[in-house]
Amino acid sequence: MGTLDQPSESASTDIVADILRLFRERGDSAYGFEAVSQLEHALQAGTLAIEANASSELISAALLHDIGHLLHELPDDAPDQGIDDHHENSGFHFLKTHFGPATYEPVRLHVAAKRYLCAVKSEYHDLLSEPSQTSLRLQGGPMSAEEVAQFESNPFYQAAVDLRYWDDIAKDPEMKTPPLEAFEVHLRQAALA
Ligand code: FE
Repeated sequence: MGTLDQPSESASTDIVADILRLFRERGDSAYGFEAVSQLEHALQAGTLAIEANASSELISAALLHDIGHLLHELPDDAPDQGIDDHHENSGFHFLKTHFGPATYEPVRLHVAAKRYLCAVKSEYHDLLSEPSQTSLRLQGGPMSAEEVAQFESNPFYQAAVDLRYWDDIAKDPEMKTPPLEAFEVHLRQAALA
C-alpha cells in the first residue's frame, strides 16, 4: 500500500502531489488484460476529456476514474479471474474528501454507466472490449428499467456517461498524450482548497 492509505505527515498536506506520486510509483501496473498501463489509460481518458472541452473537475475525474485500482492490493487482472474489485467505490471514498461531486460522482458512477448504456443503447455492448464484457457480468449486467430511472435522476449521470465513453476507448497503445504533469493544473483547479 502507498502512503495515501495511511497518510504520513508529509502525505496529508498536498493531495495533488500525493496523487501524482501515486501514478509515478504504481502507474506502470497493467490495466487488466488491455494493451496499456494504468498510467497510460488514465492519461488517455484525461486527454479525451480535454479534447472534449470538459471542465477541470471532469478532466480530473477522467484522469482519476480508476485510482481505486492503484489503492488496493488485488491482482491487476482481478476481473479476469472472476473477482469484482469494486474499484469505483474505493476511488470514490478516496476522492470525496479532496474533490467536489463534479469529480467524485462521475468516478463513483463510471461502472454503473456501463450497465446503464448496455440497457439504453443496444449497440453499446458490442463496442466493449472482451475484458470489459467479462467485468460487466460480474458487475450485474445491464440495468433494469428501475435502475435506469434512478441513474438518470443523478445530476452527474451525463458526466458519468461521457467519462464512460472516454474510459472505453482509452486503451489505445498508439495514442499520444501530454505527460502526467500537464494535468496538475486541472487537478489543482478541481481539488478542494
Ligand atoms: Fe477505466
